[in-house]
Amino acid sequence: MANIKLENVVKRYGDVVAVKDFNLEIEDKEFVVFLGPSGCGKTTTLRLIAGLENPEEGNIFIDGERVNDLSPADRDIAFVFQFYALYPHLNVYDNIAFPLKAVKVSKPEIDTHVKRVAEILQISDMLNRKPSVLSGGEMQRVALGRAMVRQPKVYLLDEPMANLDAKIRVDTRAEIKRLQHEIGATTIFVTHDQVEAMSLADRIAVIHLGVLQQIGTPDEIYNKPQSLFVAGFMGMPTMNLLDAELVAKEGTSVLRLRHTDIHLQLSPERQSGITSTTQENGLVFGIRPEHITAASQPTEQKISAQVHLIEPLGAVNILDLFLGTHAETQDPILLRVRAHPTFQVAVGDTIWLDFDAAEMHLFDRETEQTIW
Ligand code: ATP
Repeated sequence: MANIKLENVVKRYGDVVAVKDFNLEIEDKEFVVFLGPSGCGKTTTLRLIAGLENPEEGNIFIDGERVNDLSPADRDIAFVFQFYALYPHLNVYDNIAFPLKAVKVSKPEIDTHVKRVAEILQISDMLNRKPSVLSGGEMQRVALGRAMVRQPKVYLLDEPMANLDAKIRVDTRAEIKRLQHEIGATTIFVTHDQVEAMSLADRIAVIHLGVLQQIGTPDEIYNKPQSLFVAGFMGMPTMNLLDAELVAKEGTSVLRLRHTDIHLQLSPERQSGITSTTQENGLVFGIRPEHITAASQPTEQKISAQVHLIEPLGAVNILDLFLGTHAETQDPILLRVRAHPTFQVAVGDTIWLDFDAAEMHLFDRETEQTIW
């Protein structure tokens, strides 16, 4: 098994810098998910580790060995792509068995391994079929099976479940996690699906514009975002992010959400985090929809808002609340709140809110870094 280290890695395609000064250490047996929007450099970073691309700068180590000059075949890696390539002339059984045959594993052993992964991936009844008669999702599972049947140092999985339907995706996700723990192989999994990332990862690496934004446990990424980008990327719906300013009110400093009547009391510790520089750069206040309590009667903080839209999602209702109008653009300032479906409201109603003080975030607009 193996640890992986990327040291100041840079990859350019002409003028595009796909991977910028990337530093990352992945521990032996760790399951790391690369998460980020389309085009952020996830696949390129994976291909650099696999040896399918060469970095312009920096070093890549697997198990302490610098592998920049090693071919993909010499890196002992199993790679599953979003766009799988199966051998069309081989049936499913032989496609899965292929990597084991190549290293001359005995027939009975091959049989045991192939049948085991086929069962996990629910393709046991397709072992005699050729790829041409399989659906996209079935082909994807065969490609996964071919990687799972081996025991390489490292698994690199690039959106391997993109073509699976929702139910099989959830089942396969659970199986991948279980299998990874069982085999204990270092795994990097690329996705732009944050639920997939949260549920699979020991640590998530959030990437944006070729830059590693933050690496941490799912809990750290979700609850302690280190930048405005990470805060705004995670969560469904995402964190409310509103322009704010520190103002004096009744002899103390309070945080005012701009273009609204909302003034938030701050602890001395939170106040001291705001320097004159960050104030000049601009402040962005953040709070997740689940950290706001809505009520039909005035709450302790007595923050009022008008219901603008109700999105019923079954287990929860998402309420879009109107807080005010932007003075220059005339755009509405909206806040999203998660409410239990038993909380009866109608569009146009005035409701009352409490913000959970422990769950409030503040960011510097210019540097996009977290203040608290
Ligand atoms: P997606 O989720 O859409 O697969 P990604 O995060 O995996 O995206 P990459 O495929 O790594 O992103 O691409 C990163 C950047 O590099 C993009 O701007 C992309 O257009 C560019 N890029 C990737 N491969 C090449 C190439 N072979 N030639 C030129 N540009 C490329």
